[in-house]
Amino acid sequence: MQPLFLYNTLSRKKEEFKALNPPYVGMYVCGPTVYSDVHLGNCRTFISFDIIYRYLSHLGYKVRYVRNITDAGHLESDGDVGEDKISKKAKLNQLEPMEIVQTYTVDFRKVMEQFNALPPTIEPTATGHIIEQQEIAREIINKGLAYEVNGTVYFDVEKFAQSHNYTALTGRKLEELLENTRDLDGQQDKRGRLDFALWIKAKPEHLMQWSSEWGKGFPGWHIECSAMSTKYLGEQFDIHGGGMDLQATHHTNEIAQNIAYCGKQPCNYWLHTNMLTVSGQKMSKSLGNSFLPHELFSGKHPLLDKGYGPMAVRFFMMQTHYRSTLDFSNEALQASEKGFERLMESYQTLQNLTPGATSGEDIKALENKCYEAMNDDFNTPVLIAHLFDAARIINSVNDKKVSLIQADIVLLKKMYQNFLFDVMGLKVEAENTKTTEVLDKVIHLVLDLRNKAKAEKNFSLSDEIRDKLTNSGVQVKDTKEGSSWKI
Ligand code: AMP
Ligand code: ZN
Repeated sequence: MQPLFLYNTLSRKKEEFKALNPPYVGMYVCGPTVYSDVHLGNCRTFISFDIIYRYLSHLGYKVRYVRNITDAGHLESDGDVGEDKISKKAKLNQLEPMEIVQTYTVDFRKVMEQFNALPPTIEPTATGHIIEQQEIAREIINKGLAYEVNGTVYFDVEKFAQSHNYTALTGRKLEELLENTRDLDGQQDKRGRLDFALWIKAKPEHLMQWSSEWGKGFPGWHIECSAMSTKYLGEQFDIHGGGMDLQATHHTNEIAQNIAYCGKQPCNYWLHTNMLTVSGQKMSKSLGNSFLPHELFSGKHPLLDKGYGPMAVRFFMMQTHYRSTLDFSNEALQASEKGFERLMESYQTLQNLTPGATSGEDIKALENKCYEAMNDDFNTPVLIAHLFDAARIINSVNDKKVSLIQADIVLLKKMYQNFLFDVMGLKVEAENTKTTEVLDKVIHLVLDLRNKAKAEKNFSLSDEIRDKLTNSGVQVKDTKEGSSWKI
């Protein structure tokens, strides 16, 4: 196996991947807060990690992939102020918080399935791990790095920073952070401006609350990920991922909690996906520039020219490296749709290639390049460029401009299967498959009629059928084995 290199946010370097916990690779990805529909930006992050999961599995690693569902504790602002997003929505709609959670969890899973993203191997919820979160908070208090005031437990950031690098993930200076955080954000009980809540005292009207030794309350947002990652992957695991917007607060606090709790960095590699943007601005619900997957599939959105299939959208997500921003536009989507169709057409052509006596192209070298691209921090845009090269070769062989021996045709088929379908997770759209099947039957029916005309020496009719097919964009090829067609 060629060495796999990952760009690690913590070290800001590319490092050779070494699995910490054989026999499995532990990967934790921060999941959605299930209080509303996931937008396309969220999907970009989850699809990026789906590809990483798929590639690690393809390389032969057994991956324990944990992606949580945030169903409690995520307040409107990351700074522990505002209402719990799920409780707020429940009140607004006069529903049980768990009805909100259920609706959007089901919706999220459906969207992931539409994008052909594989389910994680464990999908734990914050509400299912209250005991574990309390246990971590208690232990951090025991270690002297958290304190309780009036039923809320705060993490003491400045005390932690005396012996640890609190800002390791972002490389920012603590003094700078302190300067930029001017007040206590309305939380007068906090000792330090940067302190964050591990456990929050609930007002009587707060819908989701649990008993604890500090009184009735609910967990802070960051502690759920420390609790669930440790529970299912151990105190140290391999990969932790999420969107770049989680780096500065959520993941920085998660590292601090884990170190305070058990003295260990939670993971060996931090991977952060960059943002999907619209005209250069982060796609986000609060900015009002978000697109929902179903709006994209149906084309029902004022800024969309038409609808796009989930696979074309998935393909669009891979056009830039996961660490770079990706800008959303009609033009970019159309180009991706065309590119995706071109690859799928070449896959069809590949099924009917006739082998030659020699090979005019080095297919093994091309396959190696695909691996090199993915081993270079999962570089999907470079992988796609190599697959377009493969498509070009397939078309040249089909046009008899170059020949390939049988073994190379088999290798190309394996490359498509491995990279296009298994790793990139693309598939022939169900609708397209059905249409193609029906079209194939209809064209063969026409070709049978033409053959009948030929057999009856009615050459003017057989030529007319052929010309009319050509004019409709159907190219017919007659060989000793029979007739084939392509568009
Ligand atoms: P949330 O439900 O808001 O916690 O978001 C779920 C995931 O989507 C997190 O990993 C976020 O970092 C990620 N995310 C949010 N907005 C975007 C965006 N515009 N582009 C890419 N990822 C995003
Ligand atoms: Zn998280």
